[in-house]
Amino acid sequence: MTMNLNQIAEMDRNSVLHPFTQLKDFASGKMGDPTIVETGKGIRIQDAHGKELIDGFAGLYCVNVGYGRTEVAEAISRQAYRLAYYHSYAAHTTDELAILSDRLVKMAPGKMSKVFYGMSGSDANETQAKLVWYYSNLRGKPNKKKIISRERGYHGCSVVSGSMTGMSFYHDHMDLPRAGILHTGAPHHYWGGEAGETEQEFSKRRADELEALILREDPDTIGAFIAEPVLGTGGITPPPQGYWEEVQKVLGKYDILLIADEVITGFGRTGSMFGSQHYGIEPDLITVAKGLTSAYFPLSGAIVGEKVFMVLEDGADRVGAFSHGYTYSGHPIGAAAANAVLDIVEKEDLPGNARTVGSYFQEQLKAKFAQLPIVGEVRGVGLMGAIEFVADREKKTRFKPNLTVGARVSKAARERGLIARAMPHGDILGFAPPLVTTKAEVDEIVSIAEAAVRAVMDDLV
Ligand code: PLP
Repeated sequence: MTMNLNQIAEMDRNSVLHPFTQLKDFASGKMGDPTIVETGKGIRIQDAHGKELIDGFAGLYCVNVGYGRTEVAEAISRQAYRLAYYHSYAAHTTDELAILSDRLVKMAPGKMSKVFYGMSGSDANETQAKLVWYYSNLRGKPNKKKIISRERGYHGCSVVSGSMTGMSFYHDHMDLPRAGILHTGAPHHYWGGEAGETEQEFSKRRADELEALILREDPDTIGAFIAEPVLGTGGITPPPQGYWEEVQKVLGKYDILLIADEVITGFGRTGSMFGSQHYGIEPDLITVAKGLTSAYFPLSGAIVGEKVFMVLEDGADRVGAFSHGYTYSGHPIGAAAANAVLDIVEKEDLPGNARTVGSYFQEQLKAKFAQLPIVGEVRGVGLMGAIEFVADREKKTRFKPNLTVGARVSKAARERGLIARAMPHGDILGFAPPLVTTKAEVDEIVSIAEAAVRAVMDDLV
């Protein structure tokens, strides 16, 4: 059965409930047709009309090894022919799953012990919350259950992970956040710092605020703190100087677990294999997804540290089996995809590429954008970066939301052949290209982005 593109668009419009899409504008056709994406190679995708776009956001910061990697497709196909599925309940496994888990436990920062698998970053963070509650119950601390996350943090969209997410537009009209999830101040020096306050001073203030929150709530009720090593969807913002050191001091003082959400930063994006290694973070639990399979197959992991696992193991005689799991936990095709992706990450030293090409990328972003009159801040680390647009650089005032500056720049870039994301919190253009991006490709990305920013800037004056 062959369909023409209009029929595909119509079926889609009539029957897909698209995430993060204005439902009425899409249904009515006001937004135009859906983009039907057909193929991808390297850092580029092609739509059904043959239009090629540079994917400066690696899908949703996930296609780290780039599109069209036949090694990964072949590993998936091999596993599908051999054994498309078996579950991992009641001590069943596959060779790919055991190999992957051994690899992850060894490569992850800190003293990790086991990996629990899911299909998305959201469900992995849901698992992390349950692990914190289970751990506290087994330790005989039934009140130590609240989880603190940060304003502007992003941890997913399911019930608990969506509550951990610290942006109100992910909560509104969805009855989130649920009780027991608290938020502390964002590690965002540009917007949060007071006049003359250094990054180090700001970090100390944020840590003091965290401590005050813990004391106000009672430390015996706080089970964990969850955070991304680098704030992602909340604005692609590296931590201010000294932030992680200060925060970890507070967590240690009150026996609070640290969950590092490495869904974006895991597997090389910052220039280190994990963001935790980049910033000296010592997590008790680590969340991975996206880059784990470079999105060639849905797979996520909650990596459990020794400290937590020992309590789980010790309690097993009392509570019986660990009663948590999904049909697809440890899916063999996902495990095969992840092993093939990690082979590429290691062989091609993608963290190293993110470090060298990434530092060139950061230099170029700063050189081309930092002095423009509508740019307040250019920031980033490795192969993730952002340009924040402001109405007034001196007074640090935002553009009026109805000017939709971020969305306009993103649209202008797209018209010129580049996908760069209008980040949802403010007027921010975000970049997170595949980790295989070359310097020449950085030049292309930056030059298209510059043309787009200048076009919108000219339009604004
Ligand atoms: N955690 C972080 C840091 C993320 O960036 C995301 C998604 O962007 C998630 C969790 C949620 O992952 P998923 O969309 O796979 O549920």
